Amino acid sequence: MEPIVRFEAVTKAYGKSVAVDALDLDIAPGEFVTLLGPSGCGKSTTLRMLGGFETPNSGRILLAGRDVTRLPPNKRDVNIVFQDYALFPHMTIAKNIAFGLELKGLESAAIHRRVGELLDLVQLGDYAARMPHELSGGQRQRVALIRALAPDPQILLLDEPLSALDAKLRGQMQMELKAIQQRTGKSFLFVTHDQEEALTMSDRIVVMNAGRIEQMGTPEALYGRPASRFVASFIGDTNLLDCSVVSADGPRVALDWQGVAITAARGETSPAPGTRARLAVRPEAIRLFPAEPDTANRVRGRVSRRVFKGNHALLSVEVDGRGQIEALVDPLDLAVPTEGEVWLGWRAENAVVLRD
Ligand code: ADP
Repeated sequence: MEPIVRFEAVTKAYGKSVAVDALDLDIAPGEFVTLLGPSGCGKSTTLRMLGGFETPNSGRILLAGRDVTRLPPNKRDVNIVFQDYALFPHMTIAKNIAFGLELKGLESAAIHRRVGELLDLVQLGDYAARMPHELSGGQRQRVALIRALAPDPQILLLDEPLSALDAKLRGQMQMELKAIQQRTGKSFLFVTHDQEEALTMSDRIVVMNAGRIEQMGTPEALYGRPASRFVASFIGDTNLLDCSVVSADGPRVALDWQGVAITAARGETSPAPGTRARLAVRPEAIRLFPAEPDTANRVRGRVSRRVFKGNHALLSVEVDGRGQIEALVDPLDLAVPTEGEVWLGWRAENAVVLRD
């Protein structure tokens, strides 16, 4: 299938500082893609180049196969939603949504129909005649979203649109946004520095670091098989074990962690025997046992700290002189030992060798 958006070796520099560095990225029709990364990694610049608010120094941007690299915003079929989504305060909700359609020269009957459909899409059918100040923050945000969808853009760009909302409303809006995206079948390109938000909504996450793509994949793939230390640490929490490589013949790698034999997945690396390798294991992949388990990886330790967090507890286990390993456990599971001497066990596929 032809991508709806294609970035080809797109570079943008401000003076000597390179904000986006030779970016290649395809977005499929109907796909929800999130650009995720720390502040300053080039997410907004990427979005703004697709919106036409910035021009790349080199490379091409294609929209439905057409080169739009140097076209102004109003000459490309995209729309953008920002964090401060200001509705026109003196216009009704219906007028707010109709505004862009009137600019496009649609007939009033068609506009009326489209506004009605969109309001129904976000369950605001009864609010057409209200003024923006009569709506809650979440309702205004939904209106801003359908206003941006009204002219039927080929892709909707969203630049941290939820970051001003409180945590609860934000969670609800994440679900709502995803539902609207699925119901309309539109491609969404979403920018956030919030990993949880990215994991919740995206079909695919593009992790950016210093203007480059560090890794991209489904939320499950990025979380379960991070390729680099950056991704493993940026998305979720992880144990990092500094190992040496014993052998690496197939998909599994044999490692040595200070005298403990470890089997792990090779990830995106090609480790050579005798070299150092850093291993990532998620705290929830570590199981605790009262006696030696038969898991591929196991090591003895002593619980040094236990932090109760409600629906889970985080245990720090000191593995004699080698360091701490953190494990996430279910506080209601009475079979799990939570103090004193314990065994830790984890499966080979839950430990992945990282690139630096
Ligand atoms: P993010 O959205 O990931 O926080 P940005 O794309 O906004 O990152 O910025 C990427 C880099 O480009 C940063 O170093 C930022 O300081 C720089 N930058 C962004 N916009 C401008 C600008 N208009 N002028 C100069 N530097 C800019």
